[in-house]
Amino acid sequence: MKRSYQCPHCKAVLNPGTKIVLRAEVDDRKALLLFSPQPGNYDVIVPEGFQLRKKDRVLFSCPVCGVPLTSARDENLAEISFQSTAGSSGTVAFSRVFGHHATYFITAEDVRSYGEHAESVDVNFWGEGPDR
Ligand SMILES: [Zn+2]
Repeated sequence: MKRSYQCPHCKAVLNPGTKIVLRAEVDDRKALLLFSPQPGNYDVIVPEGFQLRKKDRVLFSCPVCGVPLTSARDENLAEISFQSTAGSSGTVAFSRVFGHHATYFITAEDVRSYGEHAESVDVNFWGEGPDR
């Protein structure tokens, strides 16, 4: 099953190839980071010279429109949209804290969490989904 990830603001596809491209900002340093589209895979490709330390809080934004992806329901999370070839669609919420592995796939039907830290984030997803 292939998933397409999109900016919730401008709808630009964020994984035109095999990776998800996001703009990242830590303190006053900025870079483009590449993420695996596979839930639970936290390998990140970072440009040479751009340091990310555990617990760095990253401001993610769309590389196309520049709008921050910070979640409106929890400022510790960032959100993008997804659509799968199997027909499901919804929101992916993931931790903004580097090294904190928590990802949630939210559809109208359910919330699936990935990552060893997923349970420690208390987020209310009731009522969320593509039909809200
Ligand atoms: Zn955008």
